[in-house]
Amino acid sequence: MRSRQRRSSPGSRDMTSHTRSWPCHAGPDLTSRRPTSSWIASERHGVAPAPGGLALVQDLLNTRASTQHSQDMLCDVTHAQLWIANAVKAWSAQRGEDHAPPLLTDHDADRLRDLRDMLETLISGVSVPTGHDYLGLAAIARDADGTIRWEPIGFGWRWLAFAVWIEVLLSQQGSTWQRLKQCPNPACRATFYDRSWNNSAVWHNLTTCAPPLSGSSSTAGPHLG
Ligand SMILES: [Zn+2]
Repeated sequence: MRSRQRRSSPGSRDMTSHTRSWPCHAGPDLTSRRPTSSWIASERHGVAPAPGGLALVQDLLNTRASTQHSQDMLCDVTHAQLWIANAVKAWSAQRGEDHAPPLLTDHDADRLRDLRDMLETLISGVSVPTGHDYLGLAAIARDADGTIRWEPIGFGWRWLAFAVWIEVLLSQQGSTWQRLKQCPNPACRATFYDRSWNNSAVWHNLTTCAPPLSGSSSTAGPHLG
């Protein structure tokens, strides 16, 4: 896997902020919402979706709890099922396909949070041990016009995990992976796609997340979330 360059950040990453410390709590009844073709996790952060299928990876990352943007959207199987129904619908619409979301169990919700933690580590630039981890399975198919396409196979969290890993692979090959970033404001942590010309954005929103400027120079970077 191509290594990502560690980005300098005024706010250090708090590796102790594991998502399991954010239990479900009373709030908007997300479970009553019907699935839509929108990226509901990224929407609540007010960030534009990343291009192509990378938006699926971004949306998974944006399910995490934050002080600014409410609770963990994978806090239990009920919420996780709601999120995955929306995410798969949005991903399918983007691909012009029709995929049914996998059914999840409590175990699947746990593993999706683990997957999210791993992705957070990857985009943070923190080194991870190399290995030959087995990440999932896909079916490769040929359409009548000769187009080759792929789709995840399997059940539960594994189905989504494979879709996510393939999208990461395609993003790395397309040199867009380095533009997926997490806002260093510990109260925010929105995952955004840096569309600046030189990939220099640090904060997802300068107004709400960057510290006040001191002196005449700024290290905050542009706002391009
Ligand atoms: Zn932010």
